[in-house]
Amino acid sequence: MFRKFINKYNLPGFRLKQIEEAFYQKPIRSFEEITTLPKDIKNKLSQEITFSTLREIKKLESKNSKTIKLLFERSDKKKIETVLIRHKDKRNTVCVSCMVGCPVGCIFCATGKMGFGGNLSAQEIIDQILYFNRFLLSCKKPQKVTNVVFMGMGEPLLNLSEVQKSLDIITDPAKLGLSKRRIIISTCGYIPQFKKLVKDGFKGRFAISLHAPNQKLREKIMPIARLFPIDKLIKATTWYMDLRNKRISYEYIMIHDVNDRGEHAQELVALLKGQRLAHINLIPYNPITIYHDIKTVNKQTNCSRFLPDKYSFRSFRRSSRNRIHSFAKILTEAGIPATIRVTMGEDVEAACGQLTNIENNTE
Ligand code: SAH
Ligand code: SF4
Repeated sequence: MFRKFINKYNLPGFRLKQIEEAFYQKPIRSFEEITTLPKDIKNKLSQEITFSTLREIKKLESKNSKTIKLLFERSDKKKIETVLIRHKDKRNTVCVSCMVGCPVGCIFCATGKMGFGGNLSAQEIIDQILYFNRFLLSCKKPQKVTNVVFMGMGEPLLNLSEVQKSLDIITDPAKLGLSKRRIIISTCGYIPQFKKLVKDGFKGRFAISLHAPNQKLREKIMPIARLFPIDKLIKATTWYMDLRNKRISYEYIMIHDVNDRGEHAQELVALLKGQRLAHINLIPYNPITIYHDIKTVNKQTNCSRFLPDKYSFRSFRRSSRNRIHSFAKILTEAGIPATIRVTMGEDVEAACGQLTNIENNTE
């Protein structure tokens, strides 16, 4: 973006460096604030380049200020959400959205319930990170964004080209300069795109939203399973682990009596028995507040046939602590490392799967 600008006005290379350094690494609020540039360049930048593709609409902070959720508006007025999680160990993780809503329609997910409102551009993905990077840099004790996870709204592998462009900017030392190992792409399992990303040299980490230990249950709660069955998904992750010798984390939300019983844990052990590098994140199910008619949801997700009432999200409840602990015990005793995720930011509906803007968040 800035290279084109530099070329257009035949400016020397050091100007590009100055602009990029200020834009990506300083707590500025407009091009006017770049102190190293002469006025005429600043004016031209302001006239020709949009400083941010996103407008802040609403900011919600959790009670302990560790989680901040931002509602942004795009130029077409559609809204997306982004979350900053400030960890005790000084890591600052931004959970970015890559779509408005999501077309996949997993029945437990608030984003999935919104339907699909379009892909975000690479710049819109980057502007979410820049917002928080600038915020952190301007704090009394300046910090930076240290980790980026594609776990906000949308399915990153269905917006692959823009996500890949954003990855280049996130890891470019002249731009955001994050270590590749500090990026996580979370996917519900689009196998061809997963393989493409790996073959294109992606060096970050993967999280796979698994959520069920067998095909029958998985397709009841995640429509994607009908397109890419669970055995093919496991084959693809095994291929990746063998190729790269890297760990994969499986995300598994714990829903009371749906997927959290002992027999489910046993099935999961059997499913992953060949995967030495598998790791499971058990995520307590976060209730979602959606007031849609279930028929509309069924229509959107094309799920009705597979959805007896028992599996309607209205009746979903979080598994008890005991269930989650016994589930984890079965996994770890079988040699599969499992962690129970501490959910953060629930009081601002910023926890996993709660990102939506169709309800009370939009005003
Ligand atoms: N589309 C990608 C990226 C979104 S990540 C994916 O599905 O992986 C969002 C994460 O939150 C996923 O692991 C998702 O399965 C999980 N999630 C969705 N709804 C949830 C809920 N109600 N409670 C807890 N986790 C949920
Ligand atoms: Fe989309 Fe992921 Fe939510 Fe499924 S869990 S609907 S893939 S955002």
